[in-house]
Amino acid sequence: MLIPLQREILYGPVNSRRLGKSLGINLMPSEYKLCSFNCVYCHYGWTRKPTMDTSKYIEDLPTFDHVVKAVDEAAKSSLQFDFLTFSGNGEPTLHPRFAELVDEVVAIRNQHRPRVKVALLSNSSGLVNPSVRERIAKIDIPIFKLDAGSERKFKLINRPVKDVDFTEMLNLLCSLNDIYIQTIFIQGSPANVSKEDLKAYFGQLQRIQPIEAQIYSIDRPVPKTQIALVSPERLKEIASQGQRETGVKITPFFLGR
Ligand code: SF4
Repeated sequence: MLIPLQREILYGPVNSRRLGKSLGINLMPSEYKLCSFNCVYCHYGWTRKPTMDTSKYIEDLPTFDHVVKAVDEAAKSSLQFDFLTFSGNGEPTLHPRFAELVDEVVAIRNQHRPRVKVALLSNSSGLVNPSVRERIAKIDIPIFKLDAGSERKFKLINRPVKDVDFTEMLNLLCSLNDIYIQTIFIQGSPANVSKEDLKAYFGQLQRIQPIEAQIYSIDRPVPKTQIALVSPERLKEIASQGQRETGVKITPFFLGR
């Protein structure tokens, strides 16, 4: 069983391995996943409507006003949470009003929950939009996906729509300061843990210079059955090797940690 889609704008708070008690903000439709990628390990299942242009599905997206109202009510309520996290049923930066929503959510946080941090879980493709890029500095913990150091592996693992240009996406990641990278390692077919895969991946990390790379493997059922998890021991080895070779802090996360 894959995990069910988020049916509301807000979900949780969920106990996140990296973000503590996180109240999720879902900017994508409640009935289906809308994403520019179709990752082989996506726990929401296959992307039925792969796109970079979510304006085609505008009627299914939560409106600006509805999102602001939901976050405002949660911020004024007694609900306990440490993070407000843009995530949900697909790629949040593809919401046509993502930039303005960041402004509003940060303003609400500042007014009602000054200790709460704002986070973003993004697949990096929305960075082509200048208004998205400009807002990244306003987000306390911006986390971007990077599962492969080569275009070939990127296409095999993340299966992006054709409008996503791997080189451009990497250059945009390199242009940002104070970001986090999130990577899922898998073995089987496809895999991203061979010597060549890791060399290419570490090379990109060195260029991007994130605050930290957070590395994981899969811990839930996935749509493609030919892939398998990478053991905690192997993740620890990858983290140590990468840290030695790049100087970038690399933290492995796994169940129980
Ligand atoms: S980017 Fe995220 S939501 Fe989109 S297919 Fe990949 S794992 Fe799923």
